[in-house]
Amino acid sequence: MTQMIYPTTNLKATEQLVIERGEGVYVYDNHGRQYLEGMSGLWCTALGYGNEEVVEAAARQMRTLSYSHLFGGKTHPAAMQLADTLASMVPVNNARVFLGNSGSDANDTLVKLLRYHFNAIGQPEKFKIIARERAYHGVTVAAASLTGLPPNHTHFSLPFDALGVLRTGAPHFYRDGLPGESESQFASRRAEELEALILAEGPETIAAFIAEPVNGAGGVIVPPAGYFDKVQAVLRKYDILFWDDEVICGFGRTGEDFGATTYGIQPQLMSLAKALSSAYLPVSAAVVSGDIYESLVEPSAAVGVFGHGYTYGGHPVACAVASKVLEIYERDQLFARAADTGRYLQQQLQRFADHPLVGEVRGVGMIAALELVANRTTREAFSGNAMGGYCALRAQAHGLIVRAMGGNSIALCPPLVITRSQVDELVSKLGSALDDTLQHAQAEGLLRGD
Ligand code: PLP
Repeated sequence: MTQMIYPTTNLKATEQLVIERGEGVYVYDNHGRQYLEGMSGLWCTALGYGNEEVVEAAARQMRTLSYSHLFGGKTHPAAMQLADTLASMVPVNNARVFLGNSGSDANDTLVKLLRYHFNAIGQPEKFKIIARERAYHGVTVAAASLTGLPPNHTHFSLPFDALGVLRTGAPHFYRDGLPGESESQFASRRAEELEALILAEGPETIAAFIAEPVNGAGGVIVPPAGYFDKVQAVLRKYDILFWDDEVICGFGRTGEDFGATTYGIQPQLMSLAKALSSAYLPVSAAVVSGDIYESLVEPSAAVGVFGHGYTYGGHPVACAVASKVLEIYERDQLFARAADTGRYLQQQLQRFADHPLVGEVRGVGMIAALELVANRTTREAFSGNAMGGYCALRAQAHGLIVRAMGGNSIALCPPLVITRSQVDELVSKLGSALDDTLQHAQAEGLLRGD
């Protein structure tokens, strides 16, 4: 054992899998057992493991300049190059880029930038943020408050009211659609609920609406067709900014550069991390439109400093790695490849649509989930999260890493470099895990019958 406090772990559970090395789409444990990494670690290792070009880029940068910062008039080429590349990629007007170390700190930064901006333009009452149930935006005090998952709130006494966090419903038609309601009617209802919330709170008090294009940790919730168009129409009507959390979706995951492209989102703020560096090193970016940035300039001059920054924000080695990763994405046309292999993955997963345990197969591009249910007809959920956990452990026993989340959904998010034959391997191992889980559910009498 170790003295470590494990993150996002049941602290009473003692069993741990010791991962020692990785290569391509596989990782290996301390007994030399191979696992197909069906989750890209935590939705992040898009290029897979052991990419020598990236390793070389890191070593080269360490030799050239192992550290320098961006405070008080200093800068360095690696950070400037990354910020400018990102600014040219994102669908944000005249984008400005603040570099950080994690998705959570990017979101924290954006909470602060929003406050700074509306204070600067004389609207200090406009600070509230609408977030969605079952969203995940990270775990710093501010980011966890935006997150809409109870385990990230319980016992932490988070300052929801001080931060002005408002909550609206998740875009999950399978779970939240009403009897007889069409997908399009459901999307309209979500937009109407959003409008009602805005009117009840006062539009002049609401700064932004934050959303993941596809909710990841909430269970891979793919929005219904038309949802983001309807939501954006409401936000525009009341002058509320769209904050697009692309920490999972960014850089090819949905089969395009950003989830924003896939869903026609026109954001004023964006959070980027994870696949930005393919997780070879921690790096994140908080992106704002040019007019938001411009509003910060005069007030910072009056104070003498824009008083926000991290020691390791824009770390030269992390930036050099991220720039190399972005170069490889472009050179190898990885987003298009992810779209192609992603279509194959989604097709293959459809074979589980009739499995007695599976209520919904959902996904887009290279991200997907199977929702396990006790009764496929009534959509009755299993009580607790044990069934998903059991299935994930069975997958592990078959040499496949997946994660159970959002109740009993089995999430899949393989590296973008996965091949079709490796997708076949993933699907076959997942099938074995599902069959084991079905046997278990039957033996324990947990199925409610079709
Ligand atoms: N936003 C989204 C959509 C995420 O999925 C995550 C992490 O999974 C975060 C933010 C937080 O990122 P990090 O864990 O790097 O702080």
